[in-house]
Amino acid sequence: MVRGLVQGVGFRPFIHRLATGKGLPGEVINRSDGVLVTLDCDRQQAEQFAGEIRLKAPHAASIRSVEITPGEIGYYAGFSITASLDADNDVTEISPDIAVCDECLGDLESDAGRIDYPFINCTACGPRFSIIRALPYDRVNTTMAPFTMCPHCKAEYNDIADRRFHAQPVACNSCGPVYTLHEGGHTISGIQAILERIAWRLSSGFSVAIKSTGGYNLMCDALNEEAVACLRKKKQRDLKPFAVMFRDITTLKEYCFAGREEEVHLLSWRRPIVIIGSRIPLAPSVSSGLKTVGAMLPHMPFHHMLFRYVSTPAVVLTSGNLSDEPIITGDDEAIRSLMPVTGCVVSYNREISNRVDDSVIRIINGKTGMVRRARGFAPQPVEIACDAEGVLAAGAEQKNTLCIGKGKQALPGQFNGDVNNVATYDFYRETYTLYSSLFRFTPSYVVCDMHPGYLTSRLAGEILAELDVPLLKVQHHYAHAASVMAEHKLEGKVIGVIMDGTGYGTDGNIWGSEFLVASCHNFERFAHFDYMKMPGGDAAVREPWRMALSCLLSYFDNNFDCRSLRLFQSVDERKFSIVRSMIEQDINAPLTCGAGRFFDAVSALLMLCPETVFDSEAPMRLESAIAARTDEYYPFSSGETIGLGDMFRRIVFDLDRDDTSMIAIKFHNTIARIILDVCMKIKKETGLNRVVLSGGVFQNRYLLGKASTLLSERGFTVFTNHQVPANDGGISLGQLFLAAERRSSCA
Ligand code: ZN
Ligand code: FE
Repeated sequence: MVRGLVQGVGFRPFIHRLATGKGLPGEVINRSDGVLVTLDCDRQQAEQFAGEIRLKAPHAASIRSVEITPGEIGYYAGFSITASLDADNDVTEISPDIAVCDECLGDLESDAGRIDYPFINCTACGPRFSIIRALPYDRVNTTMAPFTMCPHCKAEYNDIADRRFHAQPVACNSCGPVYTLHEGGHTISGIQAILERIAWRLSSGFSVAIKSTGGYNLMCDALNEEAVACLRKKKQRDLKPFAVMFRDITTLKEYCFAGREEEVHLLSWRRPIVIIGSRIPLAPSVSSGLKTVGAMLPHMPFHHMLFRYVSTPAVVLTSGNLSDEPIITGDDEAIRSLMPVTGCVVSYNREISNRVDDSVIRIINGKTGMVRRARGFAPQPVEIACDAEGVLAAGAEQKNTLCIGKGKQALPGQFNGDVNNVATYDFYRETYTLYSSLFRFTPSYVVCDMHPGYLTSRLAGEILAELDVPLLKVQHHYAHAASVMAEHKLEGKVIGVIMDGTGYGTDGNIWGSEFLVASCHNFERFAHFDYMKMPGGDAAVREPWRMALSCLLSYFDNNFDCRSLRLFQSVDERKFSIVRSMIEQDINAPLTCGAGRFFDAVSALLMLCPETVFDSEAPMRLESAIAARTDEYYPFSSGETIGLGDMFRRIVFDLDRDDTSMIAIKFHNTIARIILDVCMKIKKETGLNRVVLSGGVFQNRYLLGKASTLLSERGFTVFTNHQVPANDGGISLGQLFLAAERRSSCA
């Protein structure tokens, strides 16, 4: 029995080739708990066979175990692939969607039935998770079911020697799904005509909505400023950077700085968006003044074909949704909602069963940092050290993922976005229902955030009302720390440094700069930054100048004239005095020590971002402002509360004297120094030497790099998130791990 990611990746044909190559009779069969290989052979041959399975498996497979059980078997004339059984409750893994392979791209030009067939695929590539409805992974259980194979495809599907042997989505020009272009009440069919029309639209400065693997995308020419600005305006999402798809890796490297690691990820079968430095500017509205680009390469045959027709080297390719709603997957909905945005919708007649947005990663210190875990990654499990069977983790509110436990595997769901409105909550519930049925999951233990107002906790409540199961509530930053402990299978106590935006603390305040001593049983809060008033609550997140004012009123005496600073000259006088009195009179001004808010304040003081139009904009602009190199940092005072007053006074003093880039880097260095300083103190008191770094602020490449380097130089062992995001997308894994550990220690 072979367990792991072994279905939908060309595994049975691989076994077949291996067995027939050795002349071993027997059979291979997909079961819901793995792939069962029966061989008529002796023990030694079986062991050798198992070794070769591990060594030679297809590239998208990942093998967890190969178990050999000796026994009596019937007579086999040769080796065969037997139809799947749907027997066990113990489910095997589902492959993420795989980008089209080179051989299939070659076939687009040479395979008679598939010349320019835009859904070409084989056992090594093609859609998987996005089309699956139920396990095991067979065509009838996918959204390919309505398409009856033509005799030619059927022959290939049944031919053991063929690359499309048992490739479930196999199809061709005569039997498979087709694209249709909708524009101004007309439709165009025929792939050439559609591609020509899209090319014309892009070169004329228009945009197009196109159905991708896991949802709709919006596309326009990334070099045409007018087109990009227009798309932005219509999408009602002013400045959030757009992802860009480049023609090929050579073109991408002309426009961007892609290091070796970045290139590996860009070209991998997962084909994520990789955030990299920009070399030659694209249209200014693409990245809104940031020095980075979210770059990706074509992953569907359609994308490759499109670049034959369009002249531009790069197209904007952003999620087809309106502002913060989930990416659209339905064709009718796309025509209803996206037609007004682009005037042209390109769909295809195969349903998307599971919504998966594009994944986003960033390489930090040569390692993967996940920003958004979706297409190409979901639903791949994270191996953890304890049994998490039946644990459901509801996740956080922002950048939500939920996570379910199957044995010693945590299965984080795909990115759901911010679950704070009806549409995202519905998608969130949908993901839960989907995971429950796909993985035959019934919760026996539910875990959620401590925050009393999270919508995600409502799901926990609903489940509790249905099933009588225990509920655990976990503090947000403790869950961040636990997400790293889970990924790295850390046992015992660790130092947790969580630099984050927002999270509900045990004292009712908003936390987010936490130095914890944590184990899987409990945590102790060792230190945190100063508490600062957040005038207007969430309004202070959208308007970083409010946080700047709050810091100044707290750190300067009454004689200081805030209004004299350039930042506040740009703020409406009435608004300024309202916010000022909110702070002074404590009206709607909750306390926060979230590190993100201090990044906001400094970013505002430097005039980089007095007001935001997208999430984390102020810290992103602050990081992007770093150009100089220095190890200098500002003074700070340490203790249980870490005082940032000296730093703010120096920054204000430097405003007219030092350049922005210098202040930005010195601020980052100060935060990294504080991290080192506090970790040294904790080490002195406790002897602990392992540090876990997590929280959304650590998506800041400079800060994570600097802090890791300082800590490593002083002999600390540093752990960060690689398989799940350091941002709130990783919370559910931490929650799940803590619940599983708690249950196993109670048992
Ligand atoms: Zn292929
Ligand atoms: Fe968080």
